[in-house]
Amino acid sequence: MPWFKRVEKGIHTPTEQKKETPDGLWYKCPSCKAVTSMAEHRKNLSTCVKCNHHDRVGSKEYFAILFDNNEFTELDANLTSGDPLDFVDSKPYPNRIVATQKATGLKDAVRTAYGKMNGQEITIACMDFNFIGGSMGSVVGEKIARAIDHARQTRTPFMMISKSGGARMMEAGFSLMQMAKTSAKLAQLSEEGLPYISMLTDPTTGGVTASYAMLGDFNIAEPGALIGFAGPRVIKETIGKDLPKGFQSAEFVLEHGFLDFIVDRKELKQKLTDLLSMISQPAAEPEKVKTKKATKAS
Ligand SMILES: [Zn+2]
Repeated sequence: MPWFKRVEKGIHTPTEQKKETPDGLWYKCPSCKAVTSMAEHRKNLSTCVKCNHHDRVGSKEYFAILFDNNEFTELDANLTSGDPLDFVDSKPYPNRIVATQKATGLKDAVRTAYGKMNGQEITIACMDFNFIGGSMGSVVGEKIARAIDHARQTRTPFMMISKSGGARMMEAGFSLMQMAKTSAKLAQLSEEGLPYISMLTDPTTGGVTASYAMLGDFNIAEPGALIGFAGPRVIKETIGKDLPKGFQSAEFVLEHGFLDFIVDRKELKQKLTDLLSMISQPAAEPEKVKTKKATKAS
């Protein structure tokens, strides 16, 4: 039964007098269907107030969450992609890049920056899924490599926030080379004793999972994130068996030993701060213990 009954018939409102409902005033959770105001949803860092479903957000939101007062310096902000293969699918690759840049306001699928997180210097690279599916092309690889170099030069911890469909097919082999390049840079970071935290968000798949996303000193994830290499359909067809429940969810991946912990977005900044302060404790502690023991013995 309708809520309102139109008593008078034949009412016509000219288009210019029609009142429009502003777009995006309400948010409906895709998981539990609960409806909240967009303002409240944003205040809750785009996680559902009712079921804690973590909505996908991009570098703008993560930088705002992690950097103190949203103050940071972006690195290589204007690096954009070339077209090494003259690639054309439904449209030429350069046109696709320009159209995506216009639609998203981003230059490519990753943004890198440095700033302070609870007073501690950190370099962060964060991927954006709405730029061609967060695909990893040469710009993504190069920006991550340079951000790692920045972390090495400034002796700051490095954090990677991944959100990707995998390699960018329009750059084919050039995309795959980024896996080796970023991995090599991370090895140098590790040799120099600097911490690397990798956070996998929904979704992290393909060549990204197979390179930098899984190479963290700490591999962490957001609740419910899809994490995998190949898609479930491909795996199912290959092994000829049904896949277990929750397959490729962050919780499943954690249970099978690929993650260190899952972190709620609302606790992310504090947890990272605690973790970094814990691992950067000066190495003087064991000395003290020794001295105490020595005193006892004498
Ligand atoms: Zn929900």
